[in-house]
Amino acid sequence: MICAKCGRMVDDQDNYCRACGDFLKNNGEIHWYYKSRVIYPAIVLFGPLTLPLIFKNPSMSRAKKNILTFIIVVYTCILLVTPALVMNHIYKKVLNSSCY
Ligand SMILES: [Zn+2]
Repeated sequence: MICAKCGRMVDDQDNYCRACGDFLKNNGEIHWYYKSRVIYPAIVLFGPLTLPLIFKNPSMSRAKKNILTFIIVVYTCILLVTPALVMNHIYKKVLNSSCY
């Protein structure tokens, strides 16, 4: 088999090219849980729990992994901070109304 990225000969059983490190797709198939139609909804539903799926994804470039990781970190922060702000707002309203 020939690596599609660098053009060197690779072993048929290899998952990665020994020369350039590129992922060699087995008969064009990747696992279903690495496909983008699974990963993107999983990010929305499970947030940071999706990170291992992204880190181990052989068909995703390092730049894409970094961007998705950044998006997940920001998304997680928003998910954690928003309820705290809402609860703080409600708490202040309750405190103010109980004084009168
Ligand atoms: Zn290669």
